[in-house]
Amino acid sequence: MTAIILDGKALAGELQAELAVDVADFIQNNGVSPCLAAVLVGDNPASEVYVRNKRQACERAGMESQLHRLPDDATTESLLALVHKLNKDAAVHGILVQLPLPPQVEATRVLDAVHPLKDVDAFHPENVGRIVQGRPRFLPCTPHGVQMLLVRRSVPIAGRHVVIVGRSDIVGKPLANLLVQRGPTADATVTVCHSQTHDLAALTRQADILVVAIGRARFVTAEMVKPGAVVIDVGMNRTPEGLAGDVDFAAVKEVAGMITPVPGGVGPLTVTMLLQNTLAAARLQQ
Ligand code: NDP
Repeated sequence: MTAIILDGKALAGELQAELAVDVADFIQNNGVSPCLAAVLVGDNPASEVYVRNKRQACERAGMESQLHRLPDDATTESLLALVHKLNKDAAVHGILVQLPLPPQVEATRVLDAVHPLKDVDAFHPENVGRIVQGRPRFLPCTPHGVQMLLVRRSVPIAGRHVVIVGRSDIVGKPLANLLVQRGPTADATVTVCHSQTHDLAALTRQADILVVAIGRARFVTAEMVKPGAVVIDVGMNRTPEGLAGDVDFAAVKEVAGMITPVPGGVGPLTVTMLLQNTLAAARLQQ
């Protein structure tokens, strides 16, 4: 059996076309264009690519974007000053601080300084708390992308066992918080695994839906997957052969029922959800 490929790039195209219509409506009704301000520190090549993709997607959706660059030796104080300035700027609706920040910067202080109404990455403790309580203002981008992929491709979530490998604040934890909520696009039974989990394969083999976000190329093998399971690979690892996911795609696709490729899986959906949040932020601020 060869798995059905869950094409995140194609879905991102559909969602961005829908979003462009909503953005045009918003501009017509309000006379203002939703605007995302990206803050980029240093010259990390991966961060450069991510920020460029996000700005190009803004353009395609008819939104404004700004890029604010700071040098690699930027201080926490200089970043805080920039974030405060953007918080006060009525023309900016969403603020994105591209991670990772250099080691001398206190990342938590900077992320906490983003105004909760402009926090389109949903990292602010107020927004995280709202997500946990099931009354979100913004949905976390990568987890929301994973959820949309499942929902739009008619993968049932309710009552199914979702096993998430990875417990980061960006992917694993917020995804667990989304899928464990009550409601037709959630209601899952969720297990979260990490580097201290005993007998990881015994747990991953129980998954109806297996989501992997650990940052280790081709870590999940065919033996770790239940036949017919839905496998979502969030990982993006630069290898000598190019970009690779956390799942051994070639082997696992012969066991899984559905699988996301890397690239072209979750990545394009993350960007799309960021744009959705920017429009939501603009609506909240109008
Ligand atoms: P982090 O490094 O913040 O977290 C990695 C998690 O994986 C940790 O919880 C860690 O456990 C766990 N882990 C590491 N090794 C193992 C192991 N051998 N067994 C079980 N668990 C393990 O990573 P991120 O969540 O930020 O990113 C994960 C991957 O997803 C990366 O490849 C990243 O590039 C990609 N990514 C992709 C996005 C997209 O849009 N497609 C968006 C964001 C990330 P512990 O907590 O115990 O250390």
